[in-house]
Amino acid sequence: MDLSIYKDVYVFVEQRDGVIQSVALELIGKARDLAESLGQQVIAIYPGHNISQKANELIEYGADKVICIDSPHLEHYITEQYTQAVYQAILEFKPSIVMIGATSIGRDLGPRLSARLNTGLTADCTKLEISEDHNLLMTRPAFGGNLMATIVCKEHRPQMSTVRPGVMTKREKEIGRKGEIINFTPQFDSSKFKVKLRESIKEKKSKTDITEAKILVSGGRGVGASGFESLNNLANTLNAEVSASRAIIDAGVLDHDRQVGQTGKTVRPDLYFALGISGAIQHLAGMEESEYIIAINKDKYAPIFQVSDLGIVGDVNKIVPLLTERLKSELNK
Ligand SMILES: Cc1cc2nc3c(=O)[nH]c(=O)nc-3n(C[C@H](O)[C@H](O)[C@H](O)COP(=O)(O)OP(=O)(O)OC[C@H]3O[C@@H](n4cnc5c(N)ncnc54)[C@H](O)[C@@H]3O)c2cc1C
Repeated sequence: MDLSIYKDVYVFVEQRDGVIQSVALELIGKARDLAESLGQQVIAIYPGHNISQKANELIEYGADKVICIDSPHLEHYITEQYTQAVYQAILEFKPSIVMIGATSIGRDLGPRLSARLNTGLTADCTKLEISEDHNLLMTRPAFGGNLMATIVCKEHRPQMSTVRPGVMTKREKEIGRKGEIINFTPQFDSSKFKVKLRESIKEKKSKTDITEAKILVSGGRGVGASGFESLNNLANTLNAEVSASRAIIDAGVLDHDRQVGQTGKTVRPDLYFALGISGAIQHLAGMEESEYIIAINKDKYAPIFQVSDLGIVGDVNKIVPLLTERLKSELNK
């Protein structure tokens, strides 16, 4: 394979109902760093239908070019249609690197593309860097999170990776930033369309996605199922969201979309309360980038204290109600 014909850092832009997903902007932010170390460009692959009016936003967040693939076939995500469109764009433009958000859509699309392209895909990367010989170093947790493995795709192109939402940070929007918008029209083979979307029913979400929350009140086994009422009170007082360690999710206390960690969500709030959470490596992987961490644990040797900015040794079920009352009276002053 002649690798020299492949260049630039491409990001698959996921949109849902025309709304560009935050993970795409985060990946464009990371793609800028990678492209700058390679002396190359950041290019967004943007499939959908009637999407062109938002293409400029991708440039303002750091893309140099946007490849718009606008087709009625792409109005909603369906595996085959999207795979055909993005696959053809990759064949045409020959990217060196392709980054995809590790969302339900990205996790479906990424492996299809890599198989069709006969290249590798590293899923759930937590770190991406360029090596001295210009390969992409893709780092991800391995062996249950006990070690970090760095994977290199030396002989095939593109080098593909998925990254979970919240792992990378988006750049500040640069209003008026200039770039190029290219329209690309794939040739769809509709004989391969085996799935038709008849209806889409949206799950009613009453609460904010925990990856978007500014303050998270997170509870672990030390809180127990009965203790979550006082965590809810604390969260309501601070206008925060409640999340948890896997121990609590496995116990069925909260839904899986509230789990923080390696097999849950990666969060980066301004303030993270780790309450009755030991600080297992798989939990830390999802929250240690939080701006400020307050931990309460009765065990002064709990590993969570190694990453916390403020640690309180004591019984969480006694401290949280007192803290909530104190906060309420301070906030009402
Ligand atoms: C492949 C793999 C993936 C995983 N993914 C995740 C993941 O995404 N997220 C995740 O969270 N875990 C994950 N885990 C599980 C992880 O290893 C831990 O088992 C889990 O995080 C422990 O949850 P915990 O801290 O709530 O419970 P524990 O480890 O049991 O800790 C409870 C803590 O509460 C403290 N405590 C007890 N009573 C009180 C009290 N009254 N007041 C104050 N403190 C008290 C204890 O001192 C202890 O530190 C994963 C594991 C594997 C193998």
